[in-house]
Amino acid sequence: MIIVGAGVAGLSASLASIERIVELGTHDARIAVLERSSRADRGGNTRYSTATFRMRDVHTINDDFIDRLRAKTDASEDYIQVLARQAPEAVRWAEGHGLEFAPGPRVFLTSNDARIQPEGAGAAIVRHFFSRVEDASRGRFYGPDNDRALAVEVHYETTAVRLLADGEGAVAGVGARDRAGELSHFRAPAVILASGGFEGSAEMMTRYVGFDLPTVSRGGAHNRGEGIRMALDAGARPTGQWSQFHPLPADPRTTGAQSGLMTFAAVMETVPYGLMVNDSGDRFMDEGATSMDYLYDLVGRAVQQQAGQTGYVVFDSKTMDLPHYRKAVLRDKVHEPHQADTVEGLATLIGVDGEALAATVASYNAAVPQDDSQFDAMRLDGLSTDGLTPPKSNWARSLDAPPFYCYPVTCSNVFTMGGIGTDHTARVIDAEGDPIPGLYAAGEMTGIYRDKYVGATSVLRGLVFGRLAGYNAVDHSFGQAGP
Ligand SMILES: Cc1cc2nc3c(=O)[nH]c(=O)nc-3n(C[C@H](O)[C@H](O)[C@H](O)COP(=O)(O)OP(=O)(O)OC[C@H]3O[C@@H](n4cnc5c(N)ncnc54)[C@H](O)[C@@H]3O)c2cc1C
Repeated sequence: MIIVGAGVAGLSASLASIERIVELGTHDARIAVLERSSRADRGGNTRYSTATFRMRDVHTINDDFIDRLRAKTDASEDYIQVLARQAPEAVRWAEGHGLEFAPGPRVFLTSNDARIQPEGAGAAIVRHFFSRVEDASRGRFYGPDNDRALAVEVHYETTAVRLLADGEGAVAGVGARDRAGELSHFRAPAVILASGGFEGSAEMMTRYVGFDLPTVSRGGAHNRGEGIRMALDAGARPTGQWSQFHPLPADPRTTGAQSGLMTFAAVMETVPYGLMVNDSGDRFMDEGATSMDYLYDLVGRAVQQQAGQTGYVVFDSKTMDLPHYRKAVLRDKVHEPHQADTVEGLATLIGVDGEALAATVASYNAAVPQDDSQFDAMRLDGLSTDGLTPPKSNWARSLDAPPFYCYPVTCSNVFTMGGIGTDHTARVIDAEGDPIPGLYAAGEMTGIYRDKYVGATSVLRGLVFGRLAGYNAVDHSFGQAGP
């Protein structure tokens, strides 16, 4: 068995493969996990992920789960139903592998939907699941005494570059390059691709999306689309919206940040209570259009359309005084906002014309209601500007309490939406919808989303379909009846 990539999808596939191998008693089976990154850098996008799941509790998906997936994805009805049905089971399975789930964090002061999250977020998934994979290789998967060690090996700094086929055209393994660029062949009757999207490939971003962007996490930079390309070469059906990506507004000063993650919570939390301006000091969007869980997508895209692909969120000390605000901001804080006693002083710090910015703030202040007693940071409060273009539809309080602050904002890339098609059992399908024998895939690289990402479903579907891919690929390898 060969598994390409070790984020949530690849690790779930690895654990499920181990379980099935033990269950079938085929202890001599070998599992090779091929992972581009070093051991220290492992975990892909998953490691840096907030990893919220669109669920009310570990037993229950959100009410809008199925409808939103139907509306905003390419996924077949079978795929959606399996995801919805197996989500609770997969979450409890993950608990069995060491994770503990709790109601999701209030990352945003304004959010509508219930979420659950593993304690320790994506990093905990990576830590617990890797430790279970290592348990299996040491004979400790089911307990200290009664296991046989399995031949499970993680090959770090090993990049899959092509699929191998047998004489009949079925998938028969993977060609991969090691750190020195040497090509090796890993042979197996089944391959599970779980190598993420193509957000880390400037070439593919430019070709399919039209421009390149910084990945919000260092993990995403490892996802360069080889798995997708390999599957397409084998005849896989392209699915999802290839020209689209999931954006996140982030602080450009934190590209390559020590934490491996660009600062985004601070930027996102600030926008609804401040003003977004461009290099010319002009506003370009409704900062209070909707709650933050939906707004951040709009902010990222609007910034991307500005000259220089940069915006600035300007706010005053009233925002700093909001209850819980610092808590949300501090979550991933790397840089402090710029700070000045006057709007003009702030403009100088960020290289924007002072008079232009002051004029923008003045016309905004003239359009906000005199009485702001209905201001409520925690919900859509309806406090809106009058006669301003673009309007600010909620949280339109005057911006007049020094000191003034600003975060620069760029659009970063969480993941790409184009990928390859799979059926509801995680088999890769071709243009006719027929499975390609021996080829399975899960996670970000399986394209389903269109237009706008359905929040809090990416890690969950990596878990559900990674697990299914593991079980089904082992069954395929050992001639068990398939799904
Ligand atoms: C900051 C942030 C917040 C997020 N918040 C959420 C959230 O709240 N809820 C949610 O559902 N989703 C969220 N996401 C998205 C989600 O985390 C990812 O889409 C998901 O974790 C992807 O899992 P994966 O296993 O498919 O890919 P990854 O975790 O990226 O793993 C892919 C692995 O494949 C490896 N790889 C790539 N190419 C090759 C190759 N050719 N050969 C060998 N190895 C290769 C990579 O090194 C990587 O380790 C967030 C993402 C980020 C960055």
